[in-house]
Amino acid sequence: MARPEEATESRENAEFRRQVRAWIQANQPAHPGFKLPQTFLEVESERQFDFLREWQRKVYDAGYLGLDWPAEYGGHSDPHKRQRIVSQELNRAGAPFLVNVIGLQWAGPTILAYGSEEQKRKYLKNILSCEDVWCQGFSEPGAGSDLAGLQASATREGEGWVVTGHKVWTTLAHFAKWMILLARTDPTAHKYAGISYFLFPMDAPGVTVQPLVKMTGEGGFNQVIFDRAPMPADALLGQLGQGWQIAMTTLTFERGAAEGTGGGSATSTAESVRAVAALAKRMRRDGSPAAADPVIRDRLAQLWIEEEALRLTAQRARVAGLNMDDRPLATRLMNKLVFSELGQRLTELACEVLGPDAVLWLGDPSAPDKAEWPRAYLNSFGVTIGGGTSEVQRNIIGERVLGLPKTK
Ligand SMILES: Cc1cc2nc3c(=O)[nH]c(=O)nc-3n(C[C@H](O)[C@H](O)[C@H](O)COP(=O)(O)OP(=O)(O)OC[C@H]3O[C@@H](n4cnc5c(N)ncnc54)[C@H](O)[C@@H]3O)c2cc1C
Repeated sequence: MARPEEATESRENAEFRRQVRAWIQANQPAHPGFKLPQTFLEVESERQFDFLREWQRKVYDAGYLGLDWPAEYGGHSDPHKRQRIVSQELNRAGAPFLVNVIGLQWAGPTILAYGSEEQKRKYLKNILSCEDVWCQGFSEPGAGSDLAGLQASATREGEGWVVTGHKVWTTLAHFAKWMILLARTDPTAHKYAGISYFLFPMDAPGVTVQPLVKMTGEGGFNQVIFDRAPMPADALLGQLGQGWQIAMTTLTFERGAAEGTGGGSATSTAESVRAVAALAKRMRRDGSPAAADPVIRDRLAQLWIEEEALRLTAQRARVAGLNMDDRPLATRLMNKLVFSELGQRLTELACEVLGPDAVLWLGDPSAPDKAEWPRAYLNSFGVTIGGGTSEVQRNIIGERVLGLPKTK
């Protein structure tokens, strides 16, 4: 069924959507026969990574990535801004996600905004084609929500820099060629002023990447130790000491408050609401389909309403004049908070529908849907933490959107 926004889209965009849909149908890879990660946060093995990287390359070669990015950096300078259509169709088709999410959605747009001409030419095309995968070195053991408390240092040595410190929860660091790195370059300056932003080569000597295991038993993120790891002078992005300002730009992209990404999976959960409804039709309770239970129906309807509200809010954020000009980020800032918590409630309902079968785990032949639902439920908690916890998102909305007094 066409969504409301599709019913009103221009003839050119509708035609483009048809082309994308047909291309995905013809090219979407068959399941490779080994366990695939559910999101880019759980890519564990080489073969998972290679499979996903190959898929991103294919999407890029077909011309469906970097539509909004300038053509001189590997994009398409698309005047119609149609990257979102590609993301929606990939999502709808249940296609594998594009593995270079940090490059496409956070590092790339930040380099576009602050990079020198040389940096844009050096990095952007390889992000789109998945030649170079990126990771993000912001968090440290003592600096997560309070990111400005970071202690990793970059000190001048000759023409370049050496980095010493400890990053943690670094998704994809085990496959990444580059890292967007925040490091303290002036320990005597005010904590916000002494930070700089670097594009760090992960193959530098003195870098140790140690995998961390998640509660699902899977890998995906790491801690990264820097022991006097060198980086060249041109690793600095923007100005010395401008790191905090640039980091806020990256976080704005990360929290879904800005567009202009290179592409990737859409933020809509509509397919998941449908999938939970389909599960409820298949699973039985007291001899009837779970979907016949009025409480389950009620909760599904509620989740559907919330998903529609999220979709319409995202649509409203794109309409000039409807976006609360005095608080331009208001509608968009809600995205990450609502999306991540909705995902958690959706997968929780799926596990309730499964009943006792929800305890069956990966590899158990009797687990419904290969235990993807309980796996998704456990993974959903990380999404409400990564990129800023829900509590911190609420603080930001309270302070920046509602104008409430700042927390000390
Ligand atoms: C799946 C996943 C992937 C990640 N990937 C990356 C990555 O690739 N790169 C990277 O740099 N980081 C990554 N992170 C780290 C993530 O950004 C941090 O976990 C997050 O910022 C929270 O920091 P923390 O874990 O240090 O928790 P803390 O900041 O120690 O918070 C602990 C608790 O206190 C609450 N809290 C803290 N301050 C406040 C406050 N002022 N008001 C109310 N409550 C508060 C928090 O909400 C939380 O519940 C990832 C995290 C996850 C879960």
